[in-house]
Amino acid sequence: MELERPEEEECSLISMTHHCSGKLPWSAASGSKPIRWFELMMENQDDLGRILTAEQGKPLAEAKGEIAYGASFIEWFAEEARRVYGDIIPGHQKDKRILVMKQPIGVVAAITPWNFPNAMITRKAGPAFAAGCAMVLKPASQTPFSAIAIAILAERAGLPKGLFSVLTGSARAIGAEMTSSPVVRKLTFTGSTEVGAELYKQSAPTIKKLGLELGGNAPFIVFDDADLDAAVEGALIAKFRNNGQTCVCANRLYVQDGVYDAFADKLSKAVATLKTGNGFDEGINLGPLIDEAALTKVEEHVADALAKGGRIVAGGHRHQLGGRFYEATVLADVTPAMAVAKEETFGPVAPLFRFKDEADVITQANDTEFGLASYFYAKDLARVFRVAEALEYGMVGVNTGLISTAEAPFGGVKLSGLGREGSRYGIEEFIEIKYVCLGGI
Ligand code: ADP
Repeated sequence: MELERPEEEECSLISMTHHCSGKLPWSAASGSKPIRWFELMMENQDDLGRILTAEQGKPLAEAKGEIAYGASFIEWFAEEARRVYGDIIPGHQKDKRILVMKQPIGVVAAITPWNFPNAMITRKAGPAFAAGCAMVLKPASQTPFSAIAIAILAERAGLPKGLFSVLTGSARAIGAEMTSSPVVRKLTFTGSTEVGAELYKQSAPTIKKLGLELGGNAPFIVFDDADLDAAVEGALIAKFRNNGQTCVCANRLYVQDGVYDAFADKLSKAVATLKTGNGFDEGINLGPLIDEAALTKVEEHVADALAKGGRIVAGGHRHQLGGRFYEATVLADVTPAMAVAKEETFGPVAPLFRFKDEADVITQANDTEFGLASYFYAKDLARVFRVAEALEYGMVGVNTGLISTAEAPFGGVKLSGLGREGSRYGIEEFIEIKYVCLGGI
């Protein structure tokens, strides 16, 4: 595929069409266009993966994995569009019937981040189109090509003109236009809590519906009765996937006293086998960080931990490759006073906290303003239920480090956001309920 670099442009009035005919333009039933789009993504998986690695840095195998993951949302929601059912409710009076219609909310504006340049778009576009909405997208400034490439494939698949528009350029200008426009009825955003809160504020005068997938500070808990090898495998995925640059990445690893040293040893040995380098090279596990600021933040978090009594058990420095590469790192003797306990590091650093008992770790794990993903490893069934219920998070992975899939509702509580993406719940976010009262029957 050949792509031209998008021009930085000022945002003028966005012209948008509103597909609100009551006939869904988007379903596996109404023709093969969405399924064709899904198929085109999979047929071009290699090219799309290469574009993604070139602009984002993640290893090619991981990038191709993201394309399949991203495409799965298009397939899932094309199928789910057939099940946007209404309802007929018995009337409150003899001559009345109550009808519930599901209608598209209207034009959707989407703003997406750079860490998943494909999947964060399809996870929004799939349900928006399935619900019958048109979407205008502003992709992250760091990763516009992946967005444009899938828009070209959408065109090739024959999506109606105006259904899916991509706007690149100034985030501030486009964001301001999207939030102030009364035509836009829903804003769906994935990114930082800071920018999410700003968009929330900007959307208030026009009372838009908001979907916000914001920051996280995921705890990853290893109890005494856990399968330690499985926990190490889960920690590698939950922590080091995308070089630690996902909002569901394990940020704080809590390990119970009795297994702390054994886990630290096993994890640091596993981390030492990870290969950092150019994402296009064979066998690379970790690419570069996205930019200089990201690298500086990782350095600051490690320095802060060391200054407050932390200990390096693996990595701990800029990588000898230079550039924006950082060594896969494990820190031991980490405490709640350190920056890694409070902020998302968004890099390849696994800080290990020690805990005594269940109540202690639940308190520590919940002691954050965020509430996106959480993980824990344990075998005792009663404990599994207790802990899953006690964690104040939108998502809990039990004995697994990988929870994202099109079939499940992804989303957070507290400062991690509003709404859910994926699953049958994801489509409801783009739908309005209309109540029709039928009288005179
Ligand atoms: P991240 O830390 O993941 O880069 P950001 O919240 O900074 O998260 O960026 C996520 C998305 O939000 C990107 O597409 C970015 O361009 C966009 N963005 C950043 N600032 C604003 C803003 N003031 N208004 C609208 N969009 C913004």
